[in-house]
Amino acid sequence: MADHTFETVAVIGAGTMGHGIAQVAAMAGMEVMLFDVTEDALMAGLDRVHANLDKGVDRGKVTEAQREQTLENIAGTTDLEMAVREADLVVEAVPERIDLKQSLFREITKHSPEGCVLGTNTSSLSVARIAEAVPDPGRMVGLHFFNPVHIMKLLEVITHDGTDEDVVAQIRSFGAEIGKECIYVQDFPGFATSRLGVALGMEAIRMLEQGVASAEDIDTAMVLGYRHPVGPLKLTDMVGLDVRMHIGEYLAAELDNPAFEPPALMRQMVSDGKLGKKSGQGFYSW
Ligand code: NAD
Repeated sequence: MADHTFETVAVIGAGTMGHGIAQVAAMAGMEVMLFDVTEDALMAGLDRVHANLDKGVDRGKVTEAQREQTLENIAGTTDLEMAVREADLVVEAVPERIDLKQSLFREITKHSPEGCVLGTNTSSLSVARIAEAVPDPGRMVGLHFFNPVHIMKLLEVITHDGTDEDVVAQIRSFGAEIGKECIYVQDFPGFATSRLGVALGMEAIRMLEQGVASAEDIDTAMVLGYRHPVGPLKLTDMVGLDVRMHIGEYLAAELDNPAFEPPALMRQMVSDGKLGKKSGQGFYSW
């Protein structure tokens, strides 16, 4: 009997999410092929895996042997055909553009084995629409990981109407093997996580705009009153105001719900370059 549900995993895109996905699969003992379009992007992703593992060893969370084995399990390539030709599972983590994801999956399915499971790490796009690009949409599933992947426990699994039952069962086992807690969500805009998280974030900004309380006190309301680990305004700073504004616009239109409409304060801050943590200034100074 095979040790893992998927012996060989191809991860497409070695950025913020892709390098982490490669790391958790390799750490669980799977053979991983990490792909990116340029040598520089690929190397940057592999360096991040090294750095994560080094930090894990320093903190006593990862043994030297685990670090070595994990690195041995990951190979990098800029050749897409080579990346996917033996894959049992492909996880795509490229920028959030439907045309890009569709054209990539069209290419991937030309070279990957028949029956290989296709996962997309999209955080908002319709999984069914991405699946329109492939000959067998039943193999496509949303695999929404969270940043940083090697630390965050959640894996949001998004099934569309045509996703095969067998694919869901395989993903259930895969999730357990990589140490994630899976939730299963239908293919609605924003899934479960982004829809609830963005709704709370937008309301918190409107409250700040109306002078209900300070940013610190609005956040503390949720942290101490509702046991959220971080308040909605600080979280918006961490994600990036621009990123959240785009998701809000998308959800407002797709769900026909003005609650997701980005408040004027948010639009002003984005146009002033106050994007949160990454720019040094958002609702907080970083
Ligand atoms: P990123 O920009 O950090 O990384 C994307 C990588 O894809 C880059 O290394 C880039 O070189 C590569 N790439 C670009 N075009 C490519 C192509 N044609 N083929 C292969 N690789 C290509 O982005 P990210 O933050 O890792 O986001 C990736 C996906 O994950 C997006 O769909 C995003 O919505 C989703 N997501 C992001 C987060 C987050 O917190 N950053 C969380 C959950 C989901």
